Amino acid sequence: MNAKLSADLYITGAAEIITCVANGTDRLGRIPDAVLAAKDGWVLAVGPANRVEAEVDMTGAKVIDASRKIVAPGFVDCHTHLIFGKSRAKEFALKMTRSTVEIEAMGIDTGIPASIAMTREASEDDLFHGAMDRLTRMLRHGTTTVESKSGYGINRTDELKMLRVNQRLSAAQSIDIVSTFLGAHDFPPEIDRNRQSERNRYIETLIHEMIPEVAESGLAEFCDIYCDDGYYTAEESRRILEAGIRHELRAKIHTDAYSGIGGSALAAELGAISADHLNYTSPLEMIAMAKAGVVGVVLPALDFAVAHHRPVVPRKMIEAGMTLALGTNLNPGNWTESMRFVMLLACRNHGMSLEEALLAATMGAAKAIGRDADIGSLEKGKKADLQIWDIPEFEHLIYRLDHNPVVSVIKTGRVLFDNGRRKS
Ligand SMILES: [Zn+2]
Repeated sequence: MNAKLSADLYITGAAEIITCVANGTDRLGRIPDAVLAAKDGWVLAVGPANRVEAEVDMTGAKVIDASRKIVAPGFVDCHTHLIFGKSRAKEFALKMTRSTVEIEAMGIDTGIPASIAMTREASEDDLFHGAMDRLTRMLRHGTTTVESKSGYGINRTDELKMLRVNQRLSAAQSIDIVSTFLGAHDFPPEIDRNRQSERNRYIETLIHEMIPEVAESGLAEFCDIYCDDGYYTAEESRRILEAGIRHELRAKIHTDAYSGIGGSALAAELGAISADHLNYTSPLEMIAMAKAGVVGVVLPALDFAVAHHRPVVPRKMIEAGMTLALGTNLNPGNWTESMRFVMLLACRNHGMSLEEALLAATMGAAKAIGRDADIGSLEKGKKADLQIWDIPEFEHLIYRLDHNPVVSVIKTGRVLFDNGRRKS
């Protein structure tokens, strides 16, 4: 008789485990009355108790009772601006009844420039503590991996400050942080962006100083840019992203949010890992991105927060063959820490099915940050990153408007929340 594998974590009695591993026509791989066994943070087996217990020895394993509950992979939030100084709450309250022009006439900064000013003013410690608070709440909402971008420094000193915060966050808490350099989120507010010579000076600094330094220090894995009307042109984006690629920073791109200026075609050509926003993307660009394997990152909370006049249409991208991901786009102008809320918006405002939205919030998002070999689904050999929902049926996830169904969160096999209580 073969020696059994031995588990140190055993999730028992779940009404259902949603594995997110396709099984025939069931794209979510839902297993009723299932258990999950893990060892050293990695999944050993998932399935009916009699089958798993035949393969795995549970003696001494920590047991988590998931009776009458639903187990799912931890959410992967693949697009955030997690690190920022202070909020823009006053600006948003005024926006309910006043135009941006009126608000700026009152001497209140708005938009990305406001976030840049507040982030430059903040100390590294302040940024760290603010982000830690947000990460704690994200974990409480079932998120176990977070991509975190710089992009509110827009100079060497403050961009590096943000990336060092990412490094500290990785070391200080349980959620995995995936770091992205977004020095080209905007132009520095102190330059005249209408003068090509001034634009070029910052672009040269990005290409010859900041990107090499970020890559050498290992502070980021991806190089991102905002390619849109009023921000970086497609040609400028190409130069910057190619410099990143030369330094082994894989390309990501914010594009087509407010105009179609060729950012998605560029993403396909450069083999970007993801293209994010995509409100103005053409059908031909969608096909090109599908062929190139560029993941489309849909950000429904942004469309909701700004009452976007041209909401993104995920269905067209799915029909073009693209893999889709969801992200919160957490930032001072679009503050949500809940991937469930983003799924609700994706379904109710953008016509995604619940199955499509959950896959986009797990496997799709893992692909958008190059982690799909390790996370995004519950199966043997993947990380034991999972959440337990106290809802009678899976559909309650988006049926109820305002609730947090997450009662337990397990990250790399460690129980961080159990029955609503913080464990470590
Ligand atoms: Zn963004």
